[in-house]
Parts: sequence; structure tokens; C-alpha cells
Amino acid sequence: MTSGKSYPLADRRLERSLEEKHALYTPAEAVTEANRCIYCSDAPCVAACPTGIDIPKFIHKISTENTKGAARTIFESNLLGSSCASVCPVEVLCAGSCVYNTWEREPIAIGRLQRFATTTALSQDPDLIAKTKKPSTGKKVALIGAGPASLAAAGHLALEGHRAVIFEKKSVPGGLNSTGVAPYKLYADDALREVEFIERLGDVEIRTGVGVVDGKADAVKGEVSAADLLRDYDAVFIGIGLGSDHGMGIPGEDGPGVVGATAWIESMKLDPKASVAGVTRAIVVGGGNTAIDAARELAQLGVEHVSMVYRRDEAAMSGYAHEMAGAYKERVELVENRQPVSVVREKGAVVGLQVAPTTGGKPTDGERETLTADLIVIAIGQARLTQLASAFPGVELDDKGRVRVDEATCRTGNAKVYAGGDCVNGGKEVVNAAQHGKLAARAIHSSLGAAPGSTGKAN
Ligand code: SF4
Repeated sequence: MTSGKSYPLADRRLERSLEEKHALYTPAEAVTEANRCIYCSDAPCVAACPTGIDIPKFIHKISTENTKGAARTIFESNLLGSSCASVCPVEVLCAGSCVYNTWEREPIAIGRLQRFATTTALSQDPDLIAKTKKPSTGKKVALIGAGPASLAAAGHLALEGHRAVIFEKKSVPGGLNSTGVAPYKLYADDALREVEFIERLGDVEIRTGVGVVDGKADAVKGEVSAADLLRDYDAVFIGIGLGSDHGMGIPGEDGPGVVGATAWIESMKLDPKASVAGVTRAIVVGGGNTAIDAARELAQLGVEHVSMVYRRDEAAMSGYAHEMAGAYKERVELVENRQPVSVVREKGAVVGLQVAPTTGGKPTDGERETLTADLIVIAIGQARLTQLASAFPGVELDDKGRVRVDEATCRTGNAKVYAGGDCVNGGKEVVNAAQHGKLAARAIHSSLGAAPGSTGKAN
């Protein structure tokens, strides 16, 4: 077993056979890269960061070899600065906004510098941030789901002296960072190290294997109910993310060889029994970032032919262009303007996917074809966990099943209940969830009768 003192993972997991995208900078490399930054005033990179990290400030600290100071600057705005350094799509956020782009020069490697600062500083002093925590206030907050939004909120609340109790129905905390992020960006082990960093920040308890239910809780199953939380805690934060993968609703779909993308990625990251042995042709259905991630992971794991089937053309894909460019380099093929109509099986085993041509995303009467496949991964979105959120009186959902919150505070229609992350925004980046967690923690802290403090600066 490896990793995590609290959450050990098996050594043999498929994700460990995939290589990291970038090695950690050496101190000399970090200082050299930091010295390229011109410390812009009104820096566009800061405006592009959802958590508003003072990027020129932390880069300047790296250039003067003040690595701990750099890490403090990062964590002030984003307690998940370690994972965000690796998983953020910097190409469309901070680095994509760096002034160097306008001069057609390589932007500053902000993500790599952030990773250098946070990793190095915490390896030198794991309690670097925990030292700043305030005395206990006696207040306690329940957080549902142990993903990035709840972890960020719990960390900020703990630094203010509040008790944060996180309820997670899975056995492993971390949410998508542990179960869904492409391994070449972040291994589950590293995600769990960040969970442990949050736990060190103060009175943070994570109760794994505990589901929160909308009705009567079954104590034997270790459940708690929404009503229990409202009764027993001073505030509640809903950070439940999204539900299970949507299916295609076509004949032949149910059975072995067809799997949802998030379920497949989770097994690849955590399940020691997961394997791609015998898979030579895989098809991923979808055009978003999860589809691209799954396709790239299959290719990197050695599956000979990996294709993505998408019902529109490439220009309409919601996945990032830079990720798709990476997929092409890894020999992933894109089959555009095709819609699955049935899964073809022989003696129960998947042998192909029948597709129909489409125009504008809609199937036409054109000739159908069967694409050979022995594994089909469906990445066409995830369900919303509407029932649980609705169990809290006053909490409202929009017409897409997202929890409605006040933008500045992440407060729902129930003054005691806050929400953030994918269940609010429908599925964005880890850094967006971290910002929600920070905003909610600041508002909860304020509502509990204390002045805003270390729950982050006004950004
Ligand atoms: Fe440095 Fe680029 Fe940000 Fe300017 S925009 S402060 S050069 S990282």
C-alpha cells in the first residue's frame, strides 16, 4: 500500500502506469522561470484566476527564493493551490492571459511555479498554514461531500476556529481530484495528500462511508438525514457534485463492455483490479473534457485504436482545444457528426457501435455504419443530485437542476444552508469549486458572528 496515512491506496492501480505531464521544477529552474515574469500591475493573469491568487506576488517571492512566502500567498486565496497547480486548465486561465502571449512568446509557466511553491513549502513545513489557525469558536458546520468545494470551505472554516465535519458517502475523500482527474495531471495519492493538508488546518473531521439522505436516515447503514444536519449544526454546506453518468438510451447498451466515463476513470484511478487487458479498440462517446480525458487515458494505457464519436463537428465540442490537440498526438481519432444508435454484441460481448450520420447534431436518414469496438465509454454528462438538495427547506433548484445560490456568498434560499462546486455551476473546474468553498466559508464565518479574517481576502 502507498500514500496517505489516513486513506491508503493499493500500489497496483492503472493510473500509476501513466506518466506525469510535467516533472516538479528544481529550485534553479523555478527561479529562472520566475525571473521571466515582469510583475505586471493590473496583471491579467490574476483577473483570469477564479480564486484571484496574487500571481506576480508569489512569483516574485520565488525569484527571491522565499518559497514559503510564495506558498502562503497562494494559500491565502486558494487552499487547494496544490492540486489547482496541476489540474487547472492554465492554457485558458492564468497562463492563457499572460502578456507574453500578446508578444507571441511562451507564457510564464504559472501552474508549474505554483506547484513548485506549494509542494516545496509543504514538504519543508507541513504546518505552514495550520500555524495561523485561530482558537476554537465552539461553532460547527456540516459539509456534504468531500470534494474540492467542501474541502476548501472546511479548510477556511477550520482556520477561523470552527469545527468542520464532512460527510462523504464514498470510502475515499477528495471528490473528482481523487476519482476523476486525469492521472497525468494528478494522481489519487497526491489528491489524498491534499486532503490530509486540509485536515491539518484545524478541527476538520471527514466521515467517509456516511451518506446523507433526504428522508429518514437508517442508523444501521450509518446514514444521517438532512434534518439531522440542520438540527445539529450551526450551518450546512452542500458540495455534492454531480451524480452518475448518463446513459445513451440505445439498444444493447446494458451489459459488459459499456461503461460510464466517470465510473471508468474512477476504477482506473482507484481499483486495483481495473484492467484494459484484451481491449484493442475503444470508443468514447462525447465531445467534452471528460470524453477527451477518457480517450487520452485509454491511448496512454496502450489501447491500440481509440476513437471519439461526437454528434457534431469538432468546432462545436465543449472540450478544450489544447486537450484535443494532446489527444491527436496520442493517436486518438475523432469521428465527427455521428450519433450512436445501437451497441452491437456477439454472444453478449461488445463488438461494435452502430452510428448514424448527423446534421447539426441530429440524426439523418443517411447510411448507418458499424464501428468496431470491444469497449465503449459513455461521456455525455452526469445526472444532477436534485433530491438531496431539495430536502433542505428553502433550497431551490434552477431549470437545469442546479442549486440556486447568491453569487457573493453561495448562500441558498435557506439562510443556514450554503452550496458550491459542480452542484451549483453544473460542472466546472476544481478552481471554481475552491472559490465557492472560500466564499461560502467567509459568509458562514460572518453569519456565525465573527468578523471576516483568514477566510481569504476580498477576491
Ligand atoms: Fe507575470 Fe505574465 Fe502575470 Fe504579467 S501576466 S504578472 S508576466 S505571469
